[in-house]
Amino acid sequence: MAQIIDGKLVSQNVKDRIRDEVAALKEQGKEITLAVIIVGDDPASRVYVNNKKKACEYVGFRSLEYALPVETTQEELIALVQELNEREDVNGILCQLPVPKHIDDKAVIAAISVKKDVDAFSSYNVGQIMIGDYDFLPCTPAGVMEMLHYYDIAVEGKNCVVIGRSNIVGKPMAMLLLHENGTVTITHSRTKDLTSYTKEADILVAAVGRAKFVTADMVKDGAVVIDVGMNRDENGKLCGDVDFDCVKEKCSYITPVPGGVGPMTIAMLMQNTLKAFYLQEK
Ligand code: NAP
Repeated sequence: MAQIIDGKLVSQNVKDRIRDEVAALKEQGKEITLAVIIVGDDPASRVYVNNKKKACEYVGFRSLEYALPVETTQEELIALVQELNEREDVNGILCQLPVPKHIDDKAVIAAISVKKDVDAFSSYNVGQIMIGDYDFLPCTPAGVMEMLHYYDIAVEGKNCVVIGRSNIVGKPMAMLLLHENGTVTITHSRTKDLTSYTKEADILVAAVGRAKFVTADMVKDGAVVIDVGMNRDENGKLCGDVDFDCVKEKCSYITPVPGGVGPMTIAMLMQNTLKAFYLQEK
């Protein structure tokens, strides 16, 4: 049976490290602030924003929430982002996605100062990740790498297969595995015979968004299985992209949902916010 990769434990370590650093900065009279914008009343987004605020509180950041009504225009949202860009007391800015359909999320992301782009979604920061010269890493893939490091799981020379090619998870995930000398394959909905790829994976990352999509027959014996998915099963219970109960019998390491990648994403957001503070101090 696989060893369970404990995202709660690893994220707690990251947050405790940040908390100590923030306490020392506070003694020097320095304060770190994350501004979080949420537009509309999507319940999932509300949960994510609340969790981010809770994490800010834990590590000692000040969090500013801007909850805007669903009818907010793109111009109004961008004007707020620009105001936050200018404010010296704001270190990080994030706009919770998805935004309502009448707003172009790319335009909003592009408006965020690259030094305050703690989600690392801007094309500048994505480009820096491509060339391996980055300040910020996108939170979810960075969280996965942090877990692999914590459990001493080497990537070098391994066959790494990522299912999913989103800009937020799949593509940057593949890039980070490549930076650590994995041999990386990105698969997606048009991939033919997906199992022929996943069965060869020493490290398999599922970022699909379909409940229990990865079944035991798709996984190589002894593989490391990372489940990024956050879905609801037929009973409304939170579950990942991996059929955890069956796959755990076959692999060497596996992340659970909940308690795996999710908490890591928030911890890495805290790490990026601290980084943003240092960048602005320079
Ligand atoms: P997304 O933008 O919807 O991307 C899903 C990807 O899966 C797409 O690239 C899609 O391929 C691929 N896909 C869909 N059906 C497939 C199939 N049958 N075979 C192979 N590939 C298939 O989703 P996302 O934003 O990357 O998120 C993925 C999952 O991770 C979701 O459950 C989301 O909630 C979760 N998530 C979790 C965290 C966290 O902190 N734990 C953070 C972000 C996201 P095409 O490109 O061809 O359509």
